[in-house]
Amino acid sequence: MTGLIPQNFIDDLLDRTDIVELIDGRISLRKTGRNYSAICPFHKEKTPSFSVSPDKQFYYCFGCGAGGNAIGFVMEFEHLDFRSAVEELARKSGLEVPQDSQPANPMLQQKQKSLYEHLDRARQYYQQQLREHPQRQSAVAYLKKRGLTGEMAKAFGIGFAPPGWNNLQKALVNSDTDQPQLIDAGLLIAKDGSEETYDRFRDRIIFPIRDSRGRTIAFGGRVLGNEKPKYLNSPETPVFHKSKELYGLYEARQASNRITRIIIVEGYMDVISLSQFGIHNAVATLGTATSKEHLIKLFRMVSEVVFCFDGDAAGRQAAERALENAVPCMEDGRQIRFMFLPEGEDPDSLVRNEGKQGFDEKINEAKSLPDFFFDRLLEQTDTTSLDGKARLSKLALKKMQPLPNGLLRQLMLEQLASLTSLSVSQLQNFSATQESHKREGNTGSYTQGAGQPSARPGHRKPSIRQQRVQSPVEQAIALLLHMPQLVKLIKDKQLGELDIPNGRLLLDLVQLLKSSPTLTTGGIIGHWQGVDDREGYQEIARLSAIELPINNEQHLAEKLKGVLELLIKQKQEQNLNQLLEKSALSELSTDEKRELAQLLNQNLKQMPK
Ligand SMILES: [Zn+2]
Repeated sequence: MTGLIPQNFIDDLLDRTDIVELIDGRISLRKTGRNYSAICPFHKEKTPSFSVSPDKQFYYCFGCGAGGNAIGFVMEFEHLDFRSAVEELARKSGLEVPQDSQPANPMLQQKQKSLYEHLDRARQYYQQQLREHPQRQSAVAYLKKRGLTGEMAKAFGIGFAPPGWNNLQKALVNSDTDQPQLIDAGLLIAKDGSEETYDRFRDRIIFPIRDSRGRTIAFGGRVLGNEKPKYLNSPETPVFHKSKELYGLYEARQASNRITRIIIVEGYMDVISLSQFGIHNAVATLGTATSKEHLIKLFRMVSEVVFCFDGDAAGRQAAERALENAVPCMEDGRQIRFMFLPEGEDPDSLVRNEGKQGFDEKINEAKSLPDFFFDRLLEQTDTTSLDGKARLSKLALKKMQPLPNGLLRQLMLEQLASLTSLSVSQLQNFSATQESHKREGNTGSYTQGAGQPSARPGHRKPSIRQQRVQSPVEQAIALLLHMPQLVKLIKDKQLGELDIPNGRLLLDLVQLLKSSPTLTTGGIIGHWQGVDDREGYQEIARLSAIELPINNEQHLAEKLKGVLELLIKQKQEQNLNQLLEKSALSELSTDEKRELAQLLNQNLKQMPK
């Protein structure tokens, strides 16, 4: 639960923050014309392609596509989530972030707050036991055997849950409300049908799991005796969602502000061992495969993720699963690689034997996602025969379907072409047929508007950083971002449903500007940050950066009118195609028949004489 921050507060905050001042405090800006420029802090470059606009109150990098308003900058630069970035800016402006405006949420927040408090008390308790409990020796001995220094144990907050069923309970339950809250926090377990409880973690080394703000949200425990399971995690709770959290991420950020790569390893001890040898950028998932959510979270921080797997069959299998989840996240500019440890080694033994440098070398040799992708497929197919090649292209295209449009997709198609001796356009046609079959199966009626290239539905953003030509939709968005008051030219419902790439985004923007016509570009970007629409946010930032050569309202208004006409025509063509297609398959309703006649009529009038 994120807890919504009221939009008017965000607008107010952006009003009071000067983005030039904010960014200039962190990197040095140089005035160039109306804007400021700098060497981009988000990618490596020699000549400045990072620009900050004081008028529009936003920043954009023409090199890597990073862009946004003041809140976005703080998020990216400080690696903070939305709420934390708002809190930081608010502190600077002397504002207090209002609590949740929805009536149901203050209670939830209060509950979460007390869960965090209980989890933190538990963390302190476990840490204290590692220092003081009479039976702590086995835990200390284990940590020593793994070569862990006291400093590391402290940095990661490692603790000890003593043997026995009620230690934590005795230490932390002081009032009637403590017990149910400790149950909700996953620390106590209620015995069936009674009010009695027992400690979840017993006779284990305890690893606190922290969120990106450093709050303890759960624990992992490793056995000292022969009990099962060897590793035990807290259950899902209101503050802990396994598929979203990564062990060690907070600690990695603490160790360095400038991480460009994250390594995903298997367990807590791998993370800690690597950190001990100076490799601070390793994280571990918590008993789950790496999910799409994990990757999205990581790619907010870094541009490269390296998976580190055991070299055995189980490791290969885990890698396969990771690959599947990674493919949809591969936008241009992101890199994923796969590293396999030599048989019998784990990250700990490897870094011990080969040191930081040796480990780094192994990472640098890790396979790129495309290499791993094709290697796996080639293992499963025989490309010396024709049907083997056909099978390979079929399999590869199917697995590439979730891959976003962009340079990487193009390169992988080229690689597949060379493997199968087919041409890229043959593969693209094949892939389009596969998709349209799938589409027809799902919706029955989707047809591409005439004049549209075969854009892939469901992927609004064909990473347009590479794509120079702007569609009418994008031109309309860019014009509105440049001069929001032009929204008055668009009548309600005029555009209807726009079933074309970025159509939804245009409709959302129009709706937003209709309700708040005085927003600045930075303010508009702020709205997309508040809602959970990362793609929309990036598109808005990208289109905001387009410089229009003219600033004259009348001239821009004319331009927008022209673009709107184009859009409406495009939409009519789309409707016409849909109706024609439908009429070939089934009887049209009276309304549909009337619409078809009307559209055909218009279409005839528009035909070139
Ligand atoms: Zn950049």
